[in-house]
Amino acid sequence: MCGIVGYVGDRAATPLLIDGLKRLEYRGYDSAGVAILNGKGIETRKAAGKISRLEAVLASNPVSGNSGIAHTRWATHGAPNECNAHPQMDCRGHIAVVHNGIIENSTSLKARLVELGHKFVSETDTEVLAHMIEEAFDGNLEDAVIEALWQVEGTYGIAVVSSDDRDKIVAARKGSPLLIGLGDGEYYVASDASAILSQTREVVYLDDGDLAVLTKDGYRVIDLRAKDLERTVHKIDWDLSQIERGGFDHFMLKEIFEQPETIENCMRGRLLDEEGTSKLGGLNMTDEELLKFDNIVITACGTSWHSALIGEHMLEELTRIPVEVEYASEFRYRNPIVNDKTLCIVISQSGETADTLAAMREAKNRGARTYGIVNVVGSTIARESGGGIYVHAGPEIGVASTKAFTSQVIALALLTLKIGRLKDVSVVRGKEIIHALRALPGQVKEILDRAAEIEEIAEEFKRAQNFLYLGRGYNFPTALEGALKLKEISYIHAEGYPAAEMKHGPIALIDEMMPVVFITPHDSVFDKVVSNVHEVKARKGKVIAITSRDEPSLVGMLDYEFRIPQTVDMLTPVLACIPLQLLAYYIAVKRGSNVDQPRNLAKSVTVE
Ligand code: GLU
Repeated sequence: MCGIVGYVGDRAATPLLIDGLKRLEYRGYDSAGVAILNGKGIETRKAAGKISRLEAVLASNPVSGNSGIAHTRWATHGAPNECNAHPQMDCRGHIAVVHNGIIENSTSLKARLVELGHKFVSETDTEVLAHMIEEAFDGNLEDAVIEALWQVEGTYGIAVVSSDDRDKIVAARKGSPLLIGLGDGEYYVASDASAILSQTREVVYLDDGDLAVLTKDGYRVIDLRAKDLERTVHKIDWDLSQIERGGFDHFMLKEIFEQPETIENCMRGRLLDEEGTSKLGGLNMTDEELLKFDNIVITACGTSWHSALIGEHMLEELTRIPVEVEYASEFRYRNPIVNDKTLCIVISQSGETADTLAAMREAKNRGARTYGIVNVVGSTIARESGGGIYVHAGPEIGVASTKAFTSQVIALALLTLKIGRLKDVSVVRGKEIIHALRALPGQVKEILDRAAEIEEIAEEFKRAQNFLYLGRGYNFPTALEGALKLKEISYIHAEGYPAAEMKHGPIALIDEMMPVVFITPHDSVFDKVVSNVHEVKARKGKVIAITSRDEPSLVGMLDYEFRIPQTVDMLTPVLACIPLQLLAYYIAVKRGSNVDQPRNLAKSVTVE
């Protein structure tokens, strides 16, 4: 998920690699490292934290050579410390690997390698690659990498060097971007063009399943059967700042558009299709223990609190365990009813949110089992909770959370599926949910492909002073989240409300100036929401509906309509929130706001 740079040529590799890593810094990462072929063997330098720390290590203990690989890591398996930083090495230190992505079957591969006598030093999934390549190595690096990759499940962008097949870089990709940079008597590999753009503008983008072999004399692209492939050379004519955001105008937009992949990443390796359930490695609880809880408390702040509300619906519907959702800041200062029969789920993108952390500690003190749903690996909540699910959304840079939210909802769905199946949920229902989960990435993509429709709606309402968001059931929290996104980045006053509650107050606000966003997919409360649409129209409010199929009773009622695909009720918020994220984004941009760094907000709220 983070950054890779590699160089082979005649120049000093270290400064080129460090320069490349720095140009990937915008992506967010937690540690960094380099491996240099120094003519005799491989030397590595690694550091937790910023690249400047790696530079300090290099300043006191320099390495030089004409080829090498480098990495910025965004931990998915194992804490962000020096040992887990890449490059990861084989037993003898003759093979170095940098890797972006997740090796899904690393646990079983590692068990086999340990049996064969391999010694592991890190907690990463990546390290298995180094040992597998070592196991397969017979004098030729690309052959060994090919043999290893056949056994791997998951996603990877990798670059590999070996002191036994020198001055060569082998790179391969499946599901994680990688490209080759072409120079004069020198070649680069990078996960992102910005890393090498100051050196060359000629690049070859690798496709999934491609493997590239680079030496200073040239490059080859082959497939995993060692058959040569033709790949076009592209000339880059974008500027650096654009590339950093992957061609998007803002990180927030980039992150909204990443959701088909981030949702997939959150589910990766965790769905058991046949059994209609999920497998959660970080649970640290036996099935018996999971069934012992009398109640569940979910605590979180902001957007995470909205995902918690969706989780409450799912968990109560499918597991029949009573669930309570509390703002972490409130929970910590009252006398909550929490004991050793309580499962306390804490949700935080950063894993450092001060109130959420304090609430978790409070619950722990009272004897509850704590369980974290966190994006940042190795964060305090991840370390201090008794177990958890990493949502694997990748670094989220835009202050307003988007992709972390959808992944949190997915993580909660996986947990619900797990507990539900241990209780009354049938295998048929479990399979139906899995089927719907698997369809989500494609459905989100379908929505994103129609972003221009939302942009038009944004143009219409960019001058609005107020907005009302209404939904029911699973989509009352979606209404809250839609309103929060708009507030956060456009500074328009917006309220989310349960659609029927509107007539107990907010209906007084409705006139022809008031845009009302109805989140109304065809779920079990659809007909009820239709009545609420009528109530708004009767008062001349402007209705924008997020809905999922034709509905005769709504003909002539909707000023604007945006269609989302059908899914099971519990997953409708995942699809419905995407147009709401886009609406907030486009309105904010049209009003000239600083979308990625909205006023007064911080990405990770580490104060009370
Ligand atoms: N899964 C690997 C790790 O945790 C790679 C993470 C990344 O993509 O930076 O070490």
